[in-house]
Amino acid sequence: MAETARRSDGFDVIVVGAGPAGTAAAYTLAKAGIKVALIERGVYPGAKNVMGGVMYSQPVGAIIPNFWDEAPLERHIIEQQYQILSPDSAISGKHRSTQYAVQPHNRYTVLRAKFDAWFAGQADAAGAYLLTNTVVTDPIIDNGRVIGVSTDRPDGDLYANVVIVADGVNSLIAEKLGLRPVIDTVNMALAVKEIVALPRGKIEDRFNLEGDEGATIDIYGEVARGMVATGFIYTNKDSLSVGLGVILKDLVKSGLTPYELLDGMKNHPTIKPLLAGGEPREYLAHMIPEGGYQAMPKLYSDGVLIAGDAAMMVNGFHREGSNLAMTSGKLAAETAIEAIEHKEFGARAMSAYKTKLNNSYILQDLRKYRKLPGFISSRPQIFNVYPQIINDAATEFLTVDSVPKKQKQWKIWRQIVKKRRPLRKLLRDIYEGWRAFG
Ligand SMILES: Cc1cc2nc3c(=O)[nH]c(=O)nc-3n(C[C@H](O)[C@H](O)[C@H](O)COP(=O)(O)OP(=O)(O)OC[C@H]3O[C@@H](n4cnc5c(N)ncnc54)[C@H](O)[C@@H]3O)c2cc1C
Repeated sequence: MAETARRSDGFDVIVVGAGPAGTAAAYTLAKAGIKVALIERGVYPGAKNVMGGVMYSQPVGAIIPNFWDEAPLERHIIEQQYQILSPDSAISGKHRSTQYAVQPHNRYTVLRAKFDAWFAGQADAAGAYLLTNTVVTDPIIDNGRVIGVSTDRPDGDLYANVVIVADGVNSLIAEKLGLRPVIDTVNMALAVKEIVALPRGKIEDRFNLEGDEGATIDIYGEVARGMVATGFIYTNKDSLSVGLGVILKDLVKSGLTPYELLDGMKNHPTIKPLLAGGEPREYLAHMIPEGGYQAMPKLYSDGVLIAGDAAMMVNGFHREGSNLAMTSGKLAAETAIEAIEHKEFGARAMSAYKTKLNNSYILQDLRKYRKLPGFISSRPQIFNVYPQIINDAATEFLTVDSVPKKQKQWKIWRQIVKKRRPLRKLLRDIYEGWRAFG
């Protein structure tokens, strides 16, 4: 049944937050001729936003084809490296392919302050009404249905048929709507990041790159100091993004500061030479929602949809977040467009969003890894015991010292593996790990 349409002074849709999720939604709506407001608390979109940051091309290209001709991108990634650290050594593996060197490149590094501003500018140019420096303080609810938002501007109430909540990890609006509880600190990582300036030539020499080619390194093991934590180094044009994320609950318990953890990583013998001579240019911190599928909020209600980090849409294992944000923003916009066509804005109409998410990689991937956050938080040995075992085993195996190889293998098993992780526990970890990966 058709429902009351928006007030005559209002918008068709209000989007809260001009990050990847909100801007993707606003751009899609504006392109479809919908009257949409995009409200951002920052002085400009991206002013407060932080990411590692690797941006994946496909979801951006699905919204703005050939975006790479105009968007402020740093480097296209041709190599992904993984390092597992012990205090004094590292085991690494990498994948490098010439397939990543041709257009369309699969992924780019970006600096969010530049990228978000550009992306929101595209939404603005497409016809979205971009309102910066404006904080959404509350949802406006009438008869159980969200009909607008209050802002911190004088006379700042705005009305719409649909509100898309894309205000990021600390979504106060989702909380105020009762769609999600206050997030447990076990489901939240605190990430710190430094932008380290380094001349282009040095980056290209150290990471074996040419021109605008880029590389990423994901770092595990010793950086975590026994907690659930991982680090990263991503190459930009003339800087490196160096950072680390740690589960908040662990960090509070440890009494350590994120700076101490990041400094520890930067001074590791395999990392230090990569950063040598670099000048810290910027220091940033942000939260990452890491709870996965089990910790997701309700994704819609009467007149409202939730997208991106606000909805816990992060695939921590694959280090994906911005792509889930963009795709969910686009799907939320498409749901709103259908609702406007049918003049139906209740929960039933909004539920089409969940169906779209179910049919996409977003909920399929998050469901696949639903046991992973629980598995990881219950087994901190993944971040300390196993990295040490792997590194010590490699050192023993590769040290040439006239000890017969059979004896070496026996030593590795008895003194390095079994002593630190008894067989029964090792097998249990493998079995549970296999199950957690779905
Ligand atoms: C250190 C770090 C590294 C990461 N690395 C990667 C990576 O390499 N690749 C990747 O894909 N993902 C990465 N992520 C995750 C990724 O950044 C997020 O998943 C993504 O930014 C989510 O987009 P979003 O639009 O939902 O939220 P956000 O990007 O947080 O945007 C939310 C927007 O809402 C605005 N806002 C908030 N509250 C209000 C309010 N009340 N009123 C008005 N505006 C408001 C904010 O200012 C912001 O602009 C990383 C995250 C961190 C912290």
